[in-house]
Amino acid sequence: MIRNSVRIRTLRRIAGIIQAVLIIGIPFVRIKGESAFRFDIPTLRLHVFGYSIWMQEFFIVLIATIFLTLFIVFITLVFGRVWCGWLCPQTVLIDFTPFVDKAKKKGIAYKLLAFTAAFVISIVVAAALIWYFVSPYEFIPDLMTGNLGSTTWGFWIVMTAIIFLNYAFLRHKWCATVCPYAKLQGVMFDQSTLVIELDPKRATECINCKRCENVCPTNINIREGLNAACINCAACLDACNEVMEQQGKKGLIRYAFGTAGEGRILRQNFFIVGVFVIVFFVFSVYLMSARTGIDFTVLPHPMEARFTKDGSIINAYVLSVKNMRNEPVDLRVSVERFNETVSQSINEPVHIVAGGRDRLPLFVRVKDASGLKGARKIRITLSDKNKNINLTRETNFIIPDDV
Ligand code: SF4
Ligand code: SF4
Repeated sequence: MIRNSVRIRTLRRIAGIIQAVLIIGIPFVRIKGESAFRFDIPTLRLHVFGYSIWMQEFFIVLIATIFLTLFIVFITLVFGRVWCGWLCPQTVLIDFTPFVDKAKKKGIAYKLLAFTAAFVISIVVAAALIWYFVSPYEFIPDLMTGNLGSTTWGFWIVMTAIIFLNYAFLRHKWCATVCPYAKLQGVMFDQSTLVIELDPKRATECINCKRCENVCPTNINIREGLNAACINCAACLDACNEVMEQQGKKGLIRYAFGTAGEGRILRQNFFIVGVFVIVFFVFSVYLMSARTGIDFTVLPHPMEARFTKDGSIINAYVLSVKNMRNEPVDLRVSVERFNETVSQSINEPVHIVAGGRDRLPLFVRVKDASGLKGARKIRITLSDKNKNINLTRETNFIIPDDV
């Protein structure tokens, strides 16, 4: 007798619960005073686990997005539609709302109850999506006090309507009709991608009970071979295991790398895509670790280079400094001293609040410019006490002709 194995649906259910908790819970997690993961629309900042990335730094987001895209390609290449079957929020929510499918065959009272429940779930899911843009710590109090903005209300209503129509009516048809990822997967598969299939060597053992067909949410007959509409939910695999275990046998449907299990995990495509994934991952990590979180530009000052009565030369600059960190910084300004008579107007550390921008006028004076002519390159450096920040910008110190 074959011992009952752990059903895939149990494992998928556990994965789904974990995912639902994460999706709804992450917006409530705060790191360094900001959401763990949120794109803040008013300030155009992306908060990522303690880091805040501003629009000026979107190069980092671009590289991270390329890494993520390649990672998805890699996972799809190796594990096929594992995302669809195990992780996609669409699949998870549909798995958690089987009562909507049952409602089609039941009376009006059940239908009303099921659609009301689906509507309430849609409201919560839509709100959870908005929390990735508007913090729930603002959203919920604003909702309670009637201060939720009209734009947020608008998004919430539209999102709720779309999610409700999807969950109530489209359901698994979404995967086969609308989902762009599902449409792209065909080009990411190769001969060794993980699939769910009827073991061809044991096909003759099939007792034609049609359980695999009847449980399939997308109405596929797995016995007819691979189908692009298959979402890898493994319901047919569980069903066949249940049937065949009663016959004292293993199920006929299985996970296999490549059709007929003839694929190899380690193949050329695996290495080519894998190398790109690693390169972009390393590049993303490097960009994040090398990031200072300070945007520093030296701008021209309206005052031109000029002499003072005592014969000194003064050049003026505007230091535009933006603190993109989540904590305040105290920055020292230092000017390259090309001779011992150079002095500067900012000598104390400059305090810039978290997320703040300052425009600091800086006057550089040279008491004795004898022997100097034209424009001289000087370097202006911003640094903090620990030298974690050390940014240098080069500019010109102008020595007027009649010195
Ligand atoms: S064929 Fe099997 S794995 Fe694919 S969608 Fe249908 S039940 Fe799920
Ligand atoms: S569940 Fe298994 S035995 Fe039954 S029809 Fe499908 S493949 Fe054949």
